[in-house]
Amino acid sequence: MTSDALSAFPAPTDEVVDLCRDLLRIDTTNTGDNATSAGERRAAEYVAEKLAEVGVEPVLHESAPGRANVIARIPGTDPSRGALLVHGHLDVVPADPDEWSVDPFSGELRDGYLWGRGAIDMKDFDAMVLAVVRHWQRTGVRPPRDIVLAYTADEEAGSEYGAHFLATRHRDLFDGCTEGIGEVGGFSYTVDESQRLYLIETAQKGIDWLRLHAKGRPGHGSMVHGDNAVTALAEAVARIGAHRFPVVVTDTVRAFLEEVSEVLGIEVDPDDPEIAIAKLGPIANIIGATIRNTANPTRLDAGYKDNVIPGRASATIDCRSLPGQSELLERQLRELIGPDIDIEYIQRQPALETTFDGDLVEAMSAALRAEDPGARPVPYMLSGGTDAKAFSQLGIRCFGFAPLRLPADLNFSALFHGIDERVPVDGLQFGVRVLDRFLRTC
Ligand SMILES: [Zn+2]
Repeated sequence: MTSDALSAFPAPTDEVVDLCRDLLRIDTTNTGDNATSAGERRAAEYVAEKLAEVGVEPVLHESAPGRANVIARIPGTDPSRGALLVHGHLDVVPADPDEWSVDPFSGELRDGYLWGRGAIDMKDFDAMVLAVVRHWQRTGVRPPRDIVLAYTADEEAGSEYGAHFLATRHRDLFDGCTEGIGEVGGFSYTVDESQRLYLIETAQKGIDWLRLHAKGRPGHGSMVHGDNAVTALAEAVARIGAHRFPVVVTDTVRAFLEEVSEVLGIEVDPDDPEIAIAKLGPIANIIGATIRNTANPTRLDAGYKDNVIPGRASATIDCRSLPGQSELLERQLRELIGPDIDIEYIQRQPALETTFDGDLVEAMSAALRAEDPGARPVPYMLSGGTDAKAFSQLGIRCFGFAPLRLPADLNFSALFHGIDERVPVDGLQFGVRVLDRFLRTC
């Protein structure tokens, strides 16, 4: 008897490649406009079908026509334990085919990589979870605790039709969930041949998107005019754009820097860690944004005719606050812009931070070390935000853990929302093995 005859089903490490490729071929571009989001429903149906095929009972929840989320619960052997939420979004940001080396929705396999929009953000993880669960269902494996799977819509445009919809309108789906894993963490950063840091996300910055409104006196563009809304707004925006907020090193960032300092042998000044962070190459940008509040002007809007001074002008500022600093940031901004310009919050979601300890962290670390003896798991703070913001409102302790072993020379962070997004096939397979171990033992 051959080993093929023993197992009629593909190995999860093989199947993950097909699953990921299928998902990449479904264009789930999220422009923020419901009229263009039909792909989300198709992807959700695909996932539901793949789960149902092996006996899991998924449920589709539409928040609006075409905005579909898939939820399923896999019962664990020990009902006394809290459930684990495993979540991944199915939507992707737009991709301009003219800028890419391949068709961004072809799922092309080339040079050991699967290419396509969503390859690392985050259809890779979506496929890994599917591959593991399908393998378990076929071979009779049951996890120790309930696992709640959530495949969400709309993460790339604020999660209103995805995670936030689920967390507010269908909270019963998450009954008993105490902890959760999702993007962006568990990926490797190569130190040398024998050592890799695996960055596990234990914190993420808050989202503080605001609009500034300046008012002035409308008038004729040819006349002397001392109360111009455009001038007032431009001055405020320029002050914000040029400002550097003070360095604040949180527990997560301190733990990360201590580990980095030890492993890389670089001196880290805790009060001024920027010099050390600059040496981190491809992840310097992410880590550098987690030692202070940030505020980047992103939009300007004023006027309707070349020779008319408008009475109003507005600007959007993308601010990200450190844990516990949202109110402080608001005061800092108020000081920068003065009393005459109004601040309107268009998004305000809190930062998250949890500790890097406990059984779940142990299970993540052990699974990584088992598959990569050179693994050094380390906590870090994400400068962006994820669906974890919505799920943490339900009291769920959220981590970014979508394990991926990456080649040393791959600029991973540049691939997020970037051109030629791609995932190494062996990294994807590594992720399946780590997740399989982790989910069996957590
Ligand atoms: Zn993502």
